[in-house]
Amino acid sequence: MIEQTEALAKILAFVHPLPAREISLAAATGCFAAEDRQAELSLPLFDNSAMDGYAVVASSCALGTRLRLCGEQPAGIARKLKVAPGEAIRIFTGAPLPAGADAVIMQEDVTVEGNEIIVNAEVENGEFLRRQGGDITAGQKILSVGERITPQMLPLLGAQGIATLRVGGKVRAAIISTGDELILPGMPLQAGQLYESNSTLLHGLLEKCGAEVVMVTHCPDRAAEIEAAVRAGSACDVMIITGGVSVGARDLVKPALAAIGASLDLWRVAVKPGKPFLFGRADGCAIFGLPGNPVSAFVTFLLFVRPALLRMMGANESELNLPTTKAELAVEMRNDSERPHYNRGLLRNGIFTPMGRQESHALFGLSRSNALLLVQPSEQLLAGNGVSVLTWD
Ligand code: AMP
Ligand code: MG
Repeated sequence: MIEQTEALAKILAFVHPLPAREISLAAATGCFAAEDRQAELSLPLFDNSAMDGYAVVASSCALGTRLRLCGEQPAGIARKLKVAPGEAIRIFTGAPLPAGADAVIMQEDVTVEGNEIIVNAEVENGEFLRRQGGDITAGQKILSVGERITPQMLPLLGAQGIATLRVGGKVRAAIISTGDELILPGMPLQAGQLYESNSTLLHGLLEKCGAEVVMVTHCPDRAAEIEAAVRAGSACDVMIITGGVSVGARDLVKPALAAIGASLDLWRVAVKPGKPFLFGRADGCAIFGLPGNPVSAFVTFLLFVRPALLRMMGANESELNLPTTKAELAVEMRNDSERPHYNRGLLRNGIFTPMGRQESHALFGLSRSNALLLVQPSEQLLAGNGVSVLTWD
């Protein structure tokens, strides 16, 4: 059995970023940047109005002053207007500021009388203006290699006129579930059977990471069928097999991988749940064997599969680990086992509460969880203790 950090280091040493590709900005959310980008344009692009109102010279706008209206500046065209003391130009939000203007009066703060406006509020120099370059300067870094692209980054990139971006490769993934006892949802249940549910879990987790699921198949515990499935799956960048990686006579994944010539680089990790976890490789395919119990499959996916996937997608080192958050523990917790235990629970308003039974088959607690709390062997934590939890949403 190998320690968790050693196992992860070994896996990460085996997986490499896939070739980068150019995609449209609209499709880039969730991808990792494959290039640094600097702003080519300073933003705002030009001095402009922050309000619908009147462009003026502030020093000529004492309360009650009448100003002569001498033009109109809409957004979207540069009319190259000028304003002098005692004058005002009708202006709209985002429109270029006329030369000579150093403030905008909100339209709510004036009375319009024919060709004049009366100033009804104090006007300060610089008021309701957006200065050119006030947000960002040309040359400033706006994206770094390996950084995850979020929806909120897109307007900055779009405002630079960027239509396409170079991002890390798309990971194509296969999911293979195994087990004679399992039947697919939608089929009538026979005595002793249970519904196959890991593939939906893995599908969701893979897509959340940004991978594309291109193959999903279920195999009974029969050597020839598992071998055929892993052979087909090995055409993908990543293959995830659940079940059949323990030590029982019906645990046929390892012989099937041997039969297709895959290497078995790692088997059994000191974590709870998830001990029977397996990692191997076949040509360009990274192979993960996850235990069949759904909670074990979930925890080992987050601990081992997710960082490997993100590395393949071009993520930088700091993106690989799950984010940690400080929390207060709601109840006492202890770990009497010999392996580090990842407890599932709910983090809300800074309080972590374990959810449901902490057993590897227990689905209800898993379904309510949004965080993991690691409790080390022999460790005892008390209600109210400060802890650090891992989150994935
Ligand atoms: P195994 O790792 O194959 O020994 O599976 C352990 C247990 O996990 C099995 O007895 C099943 O109850 C459960 N299990 C395995 N695979 C799945 C699956 N794909 N969906 C739901 N439960 C599963
Ligand atoms: Mg099985």
